[in-house]
Amino acid sequence: MVNWHRLRKRIHLICFLIFLALPFFNVIRFDIPRQRFYFFGYELWINEFGIIFFAMMFLMFLIVVASVVLGRVYCGYLCPQMILSEAAIALEHRLRRHKPLFYAVLAAASVFLAFVFIAYFVEPRDLARRLLAIDLRTAAGISGAVVTLLTFLDFSVLRLRFCTTACPYGYLQGMLSDGNTLLVQYRDEGHTCIECKKCVRDCPMGIDIRSSPFQIECVHCGECIDSCNTILGRLKRPLPGLIHYSWGVEDKPRFPFDAKRVVLLLVLALYATGLFATLSTRHAVLVRISPDRSTLYRAGADGRIYNKFRYTLANRSHKPAAVVFSLDHLPGASLAMDPVSLKPGRSVEGEFEISSPAGSRGDLVTHFEIRTSTIPEQVADTFPMTFISPTEAK
Ligand code: SF4
Ligand code: SF4
Repeated sequence: MVNWHRLRKRIHLICFLIFLALPFFNVIRFDIPRQRFYFFGYELWINEFGIIFFAMMFLMFLIVVASVVLGRVYCGYLCPQMILSEAAIALEHRLRRHKPLFYAVLAAASVFLAFVFIAYFVEPRDLARRLLAIDLRTAAGISGAVVTLLTFLDFSVLRLRFCTTACPYGYLQGMLSDGNTLLVQYRDEGHTCIECKKCVRDCPMGIDIRSSPFQIECVHCGECIDSCNTILGRLKRPLPGLIHYSWGVEDKPRFPFDAKRVVLLLVLALYATGLFATLSTRHAVLVRISPDRSTLYRAGADGRIYNKFRYTLANRSHKPAAVVFSLDHLPGASLAMDPVSLKPGRSVEGEFEISSPAGSRGDLVTHFEIRTSTIPEQVADTFPMTFISPTEAK
């Protein structure tokens, strides 16, 4: 028989390690000062808002699908608030005769946890420098002090009350679950409950699962299942006991993946495929070119007509790059421009002119293309443009 408590504590440890590792390995991190979003190793710039939005929506959809299928299993098994609250309660119990030591350990843990939390938004090495310098003047330093204080208050006072008072996910779950969602329920058709209330005493949320499987406080942790199994096992009653996980409130075992869940999982798979295809085909070097029409054209002393253009280049990779420009469909024109070098993670803006001999164009507007090629990736881009010549040239 599964020991849900032991399983849950193992999953808690894994989740805690993942929570610590995510920002340090850039798996998921929003670097606010540098305006970057890190997503599974991809470094997205803020000007790639479309992909960032796509990635955020994917994460939200993942939570929605998990909630429809597995109910509040996220709360009981994966949520850092739950994991750390239970750890604080266990530590307090262990140090119940040494209260000052408990608060000292909690204070040190709060500094560490606040550091990890802010590392999701500020580069960790930069943050460590600020912490060692006890920076209380910059926004990151003040945020660190405030988050440390809130963390301390959270895990010394609020703890699991947060789940039933402040967390919106618990309320959202009520709207997402349906008759096939996984839940914890009590069934006792044989009236074998001995009213020991161990399930109530062991419930971290302090509720009685026998009242209803749909209580908003219930995080589907399964602790009450272990409690009932333990008590009835000691009394040599048939096991499993009176409380169990079930897909919906019906007692008969059934295949939980109905048409709704199959569709949701298919959409999630399509979403993931589209997102990672987009991420893997995105260009490391962003190239943008636009005409500068503050003046339509300039007649040079050399007898040529000049049009001005602007460029923005961004190297989103970790390697040096360069961009080479060339022209197409504009005979006789010239573009005097060397390849533009780009350091890793840097962007540059600039302008350049394209010239063409005066009187060489029959029309006011000539359509042509500016082509770019990146080094070393050899990714080519084409930008349709127009060249404007004076009407007298007709
Ligand atoms: S632990 Fe089991 S037997 Fe005891 S009160 Fe709860 S449901 Fe009844
Ligand atoms: S009722 Fe059972 S499953 Fe729900 S929170 Fe309490 S112990 Fe966990």
